[in-house]
Amino acid sequence: MKSSNSPLSVAAQFSDEYWMEAALARAATAQSLGEVPVGAVVVANNQIIGEGWNTPIRDHDPSAHAEMQAIRMAARHQQNYRLVGATLYVTLEPCPMCAGAIVHARLDRVVYGATDLKTGAAGSAMQLLNHAQLNHQPAITAGILHSQCSQVVSAFFAQRRAQIKAAKKARKAHGAD
Ligand SMILES: [Zn+2]
Repeated sequence: MKSSNSPLSVAAQFSDEYWMEAALARAATAQSLGEVPVGAVVVANNQIIGEGWNTPIRDHDPSAHAEMQAIRMAARHQQNYRLVGATLYVTLEPCPMCAGAIVHARLDRVVYGATDLKTGAAGSAMQLLNHAQLNHQPAITAGILHSQCSQVVSAFFAQRRAQIKAAKKARKAHGAD
């Protein structure tokens, strides 16, 4: 498929790390909104055609995961619900819902950073992205900028646990009055 590319345009292709940095920037946006910091971009022909970050709490929408937003935007951009030839970069391993959307969209590749042992559907908790029963299996690359991607999520949950603990303590102290 790359045979039509001149050597120059191949040399100008950005790396997986480059696009994962772009996804991390979207994760920071989610974090600034108080959402679980996950970010995603869809890349085709060496450019971003879709971007997304988690907004389920803000939008009262359980489907508002970073991947879903990025896929929706990319499909609108392409005027096509099939994203053949495109790659999704996401900071955290996709959940079963997003894995379903990835298969429906026929994305060529999925590249993710951190693994999600609880709900990861690219092999950590279950394997949906490469399920033999499904009619499309994207190529998967895991662990790009792994430590940065994991750090963002684990720092967020550590902070949230600390906040909950502090709130509990404050309520207890208040109740003791
Ligand atoms: Zn998801």
